[in-house]
Amino acid sequence: MKSAHATLRGMGTFDSVNPARPGEVLGTRTLGGAAEVDAAVARAAAAQRAWAKVPAPARAEMIAATGEVLAARKAELAELVAREAGKVLVEANGDVQEAIDMGGFVAGLGRMPMGETVASELPNKMGYTTRHPVGVVGMITPWNFPVAIPSWKCFPALLAGNAVVLKPSEFAPLCAEAFVAACVDAGIPGDLLNIVHGARDAGAALAVHPGVGALSFTGSVPTGRLVAAAAAETGPRLVSLELGGKNAMVVMPDADLELVVDGAVWGAFGTAGQRCTSTSRLVIDRTVADRVTEQVAERAAGLRLGDPMDPATDVGPVITAESGRRITGMVEAALDEGAEVATGGALVEVDGCEGGTFMQPTVLRGVKPSHRIALDEVFGPVLSVIEVDGLDEAIDVVNSAEYGLSAAVYTSDIGVAMRAVDAIDTGIVYVNAPTIGAEIQLPFGGTKHTGNGFREAGTRGIEQFSQVKTVYIDYSGRLQRAQIDNRE
Ligand code: NAD
Repeated sequence: MKSAHATLRGMGTFDSVNPARPGEVLGTRTLGGAAEVDAAVARAAAAQRAWAKVPAPARAEMIAATGEVLAARKAELAELVAREAGKVLVEANGDVQEAIDMGGFVAGLGRMPMGETVASELPNKMGYTTRHPVGVVGMITPWNFPVAIPSWKCFPALLAGNAVVLKPSEFAPLCAEAFVAACVDAGIPGDLLNIVHGARDAGAALAVHPGVGALSFTGSVPTGRLVAAAAAETGPRLVSLELGGKNAMVVMPDADLELVVDGAVWGAFGTAGQRCTSTSRLVIDRTVADRVTEQVAERAAGLRLGDPMDPATDVGPVITAESGRRITGMVEAALDEGAEVATGGALVEVDGCEGGTFMQPTVLRGVKPSHRIALDEVFGPVLSVIEVDGLDEAIDVVNSAEYGLSAAVYTSDIGVAMRAVDAIDTGIVYVNAPTIGAEIQLPFGGTKHTGNGFREAGTRGIEQFSQVKTVYIDYSGRLQRAQIDNRE
């Protein structure tokens, strides 16, 4: 692993740095590998045996207490998120708030039903289901929600009675540590939550470890595919994947166009376009395309790039210099294919942020559905405008991407909105709201190559961390044969 952001330092360590000023080292950590993963899995497995015997409502109380610790530390945690992940302060606060909300929500689930009772086809017999822990859950997380995503995974996994080995992104190791410290300070036994730092080697070792009962991965499609293939060999059988997106905002001519401009600017350029749900395509009816594109471009050009810690900053850095090169390379390829720059398109220097990689909020017009920029995840502040004639063509364009995470439709006609909701093949659809902004009490995840069917958050968030056990109780006192004794 070698990049401007997390750099190898001596033997077996790496630096966490501030992406706004990569010369500013925030901490140095060990680059873990198979040995560290082995030790962490053994520690977690030993701790899990006692944790599984703790009643779920008691586990939930510790999760609730963690939510309170996180709330008490919100300002300092948000500052760490801003410094380590480069998210502007207001969004860094949102990242931490998501973890606080998740703590409260998952704690509530501790007293909710975790199964169903179903009548038997035979007399004096009943059936019900319970959920059982998988043992040790391995988690591999990205850098862009460095407190929220660990909370989305750790809280339901702990509630279900598991222990955790977390391999956080090498670009946000300190945020993961701060999250785990809050859990431990709230009373959750420390050996239940084990961090192994590092990059590919640590992640790969976790993915194939036979002592891991379930693996929960969030990151890019290429890495997710590697992880799933590796896990199929010797690793956990339960593998959940939450991968990238190519999220589109559909705009019909009857939409409130001011709302459209607000939504497009926030959806595309919030978090410098580095959310899995960032708005990447503006799929817009030709009759209103010029007007909206000009307004979005004007607003984008006015956004202030700067230090995420400065409250006046709208858009922070992209995570690494390598990311910046990848994004500008994609823009250049789009221009070669015939797209045009409506605004932005280049990396810029920002005063006081030496060495940081800042990408101008970029709007590309004249993008065709077949262009690479219309199909591949950019994960940067670039919005591609694709003009269409009517809803049916818009839906075809939205569904032409291999990803299926989030989409939005803007219209004032409820019939059009509902046709779009029905026809768009994504895990999340917004009506008259941008593609970003998920709430933790609802399921989160995508279709097609964005995932493998699991959902995080909401009441189903626990499913990837537990197994269903079906129990039959026959109190008839005699042998009863299903499908036979109750039939002629
Ligand atoms: P990434 O795929 O580069 O890395 C994700 C994690 O995988 C990191 O911890 C990394 O160290 C680890 N890793 C890298 N190579 C590995 C290997 N061979 N085996 C095991 N682990 C390995 O992603 P990133 O740049 O950190 O995050 C951005 C990506 O994550 C984007 O594609 C974004 O859309 C996606 N994302 C998805 C969601 C979601 O819920 N669907 C949420 C946030 C981010």
